[in-house]
Amino acid sequence: MLRNGRVYPDDHIFPSVTKSCAMMNDYRAGQSTHCLAVKVGYDFNVFVGSSVVDMYAKCGNLVDARKMFDEIPGKNVVSWSGMIYGYAQMGEDEEALRLFKEALIEDLSVNDFTFSGVIRVCGNSTLLELGKQMHGLCLKMSYHSSSFVGSALISMYSKCGVIEGAYLVFYEVLDKNLGMWNAMLIGCAQHSHTKNVFELFGKMERVGMKPNFITFLCLLYACSHAGLVEEGKYYFQLMKEQGIEPGDQHYATMVDLLGRAGKLHEAVEITKEMPMQPTESVWGALLTGCRIHGNTELAGYVADRVSILGPVSPGLHVLLSNAYAAAGRYKEAAKARKILRDRGMKKETGLSWVEEGNRIYTFVAGDRAHAKSEEIYRKLEKLGEDMARAGYVADTSYVLQEVGADEKIQSIRYHSERLAIAFALITFPPERPIRVMKNLRVCGDCHTAIKFMSRCTGRIIIVRDNNRFHRFEGGKCSCGDYW
Ligand SMILES: [Zn+2]
Ligand SMILES: [Zn+2]
Repeated sequence: MLRNGRVYPDDHIFPSVTKSCAMMNDYRAGQSTHCLAVKVGYDFNVFVGSSVVDMYAKCGNLVDARKMFDEIPGKNVVSWSGMIYGYAQMGEDEEALRLFKEALIEDLSVNDFTFSGVIRVCGNSTLLELGKQMHGLCLKMSYHSSSFVGSALISMYSKCGVIEGAYLVFYEVLDKNLGMWNAMLIGCAQHSHTKNVFELFGKMERVGMKPNFITFLCLLYACSHAGLVEEGKYYFQLMKEQGIEPGDQHYATMVDLLGRAGKLHEAVEITKEMPMQPTESVWGALLTGCRIHGNTELAGYVADRVSILGPVSPGLHVLLSNAYAAAGRYKEAAKARKILRDRGMKKETGLSWVEEGNRIYTFVAGDRAHAKSEEIYRKLEKLGEDMARAGYVADTSYVLQEVGADEKIQSIRYHSERLAIAFALITFPPERPIRVMKNLRVCGDCHTAIKFMSRCTGRIIIVRDNNRFHRFEGGKCSCGDYW
């Protein structure tokens, strides 16, 4: 556009600039572009306004995105999609779904991007039924071959514990983008299909799909979950050779892999190698490794390093206090606990949930608030007898080891996942696999108990904890007891 002899950006140029800012995740440049658009009077142009919404949402600033969104007259599909996707990305699922419904009511022509946003919401909230309905709608509207929709569907099915659904989508979409490959890789890694992770990576190379840092994170994650130290080192090296700089998450995963495998000194070397400050997850992984392998001296050293970091998360505080206690440094352990108390930091409450119809049923340890409570406890008692006959003995030592979980000692037999499983056993038809989601790690005793439950009932039980999936069948777990 020409004004006073000068060239100004117009409604073609502004959206492409904001798009670049979004791609580079450069909030400040995006904001300056927005300011310029206001100055030259383009902010209420629907194309410019929508692209600004999309940019703010992608940069993670939902407040600014929403402000712009509410101001645009005659919103188009880009503004709706950008806003919905933004909410979905930031885990504000309810708001995303509410907006999607509004968009459908306004009979707005939704596109594949809008769908992928909502499907991601379903995945994050493990709303399998709603996710399937969305999949059905995509098929009806012929959006299922879009790779945006494809990668969202793969991660939705995988997060809901239905890895078979993820594979189906992956092989159905012929024109796969990197997002789809990565979504499939992470799904395989979480479901312990480790061999498939390596095979898929080989296939990617053969079809000429260039891996990125997320791809390598999936590979390292798979190695760490399966305890494959040599393979992990290989891919860590390969990534550097391919010119991809490892980020803090790659380092944390390597420390986790080495630490769990007992190679604690190599793990420490990795932390020294890091070009950035080690993050909380790096220290957490190292402390966990020390705890597993009983290296109290190193744990004490790490705890000292963490202590000088300043405020850390409650979870890390618990690890810290446990590390000091294990090293016999009780004063410091008490101090760490005191800080936790003084700051009013609360450990996260253990929650498990199952989906039935379009409803989610949530349980906490020792929960007696559920309408079917009596039946649930009766089922657990009866099942407990069968399990004992099959050789199950409760291991209460896990009660003391429980970290980051606010689950009461006396209620180990009634940890939230067991209640959720019992509920599913009395509610679901026998052929249906039981899918339970949990926000914390499954404790060792529950892991053993659920193996027995799967054997005694002949049911497939899939439990997702805060880190991975466990598929229990016939007395065995897919994680091979390494988790
Ligand atoms: Zn437990
Ligand atoms: Zn397992």
